[in-house]
Formats: sequence, C-alpha cells, structure tokens
Amino acid sequence: MKINQWTRENTADLYRQSATAQATGAAITEQARSQLIAACRAAYPNEACGVLAYAEQHAHHINPGNNSEHTSQGNSIVQVNTIYPIRNAAADSARCFLFHPQDWISTYYAIQKNRQSLVGFYHSHPGSLPIPSAADYTGIQYSTAASYWIISLNNPHIPVVQPYLFNQDTSSFEPLVLAQVSI
Ligand SMILES: [Zn+2]
Repeated sequence: MKINQWTRENTADLYRQSATAQATGAAITEQARSQLIAACRAAYPNEACGVLAYAEQHAHHINPGNNSEHTSQGNSIVQVNTIYPIRNAAADSARCFLFHPQDWISTYYAIQKNRQSLVGFYHSHPGSLPIPSAADYTGIQYSTAASYWIISLNNPHIPVVQPYLFNQDTSSFEPLVLAQVSI
C-alpha cells in the first residue's frame, strides 16, 4: 500500500482522532457502500483506491480551536457516508496502488471545503480476500487516526467490504465490525 508521503504529513487536521482511535466498529450508508463497490468494479482488474469521508448532520462541533467537544460525542463507530475515488497511479496497478497526486490534493481540499472528516482510505483486492497483503504492510507509516478499508472482488458476485484500524503496538491491522446503515 502506498498512499504517498504527502498523505500522512498533511491530513492530521482532517481526522477526528479521538473518535477513530477508540473505535470498535464501522458503519457505512447503503449509498456509500454501493458507490464504493461500483468504483472497485469499474477499476477491475486493477486495484481501485480512494478516500472515505463523513459529513456531520450538525455542524455545531466545527469550531477551530475547540476540540473538547470531540470526546463528548461518545462516538466509537467509524462512520462513512461519502466516497472519493482516486486514480491509481501505480505502474503495476493490478497488484498495488498509489494515489494519483492531483486527485489526492483535490480530494483533500474537497473534504475541507465540504466540512467533512477524513475517515479512512480504501483499496480493492481484485482477486484476493479482504486481508492486508504483505505489500499493504510496507510503504507507509499507518496512522491510528484513520481506518483502512479493503474491498475484495475475489467472488465478483459477493463483494466483501472489510474495515481495519492499525494497531501501532502490535504493528498489525485489526478488523472492525461493519454495519450498513440506511439513510
Ligand atoms: Zn491490499
């Protein structure tokens, strides 16, 4: 997995760190899940990649400099309702992915402009299970403030969406229980 250097150094302000680091589950809207799977199918047989975001229904917490509201939200679920596909710029895009720098920068600004939170990163496994590969463990230093989602098209009729958090103590990905929510 290679998201690129720019990613980890510039996204801290978009994360809801307290919420994600303590999360035990994840939830995605029906619409976002459909868009996610469609984006992965469109890229097949290559790997798809992109960003997952969440737009709050209420904007009362958006107040730069006031982070004390975060914990009182009591949110232990990673919530996703927006998908931002990003072009895969990897030379060997059937086996790995690399965020297209231009797409990634425009996505970053779109998330800011839309006052969303950056929730995580996704990529697809066109022909393997939704389990982090050896390649997924190399390349970047993972953040505990983000979630990492793998979409498996191993069985093309039954796509599997699996979110993970990265545990820095054990240097491993830990699966989150995923729920699908209606809007
Ligand atoms: Zn992978």
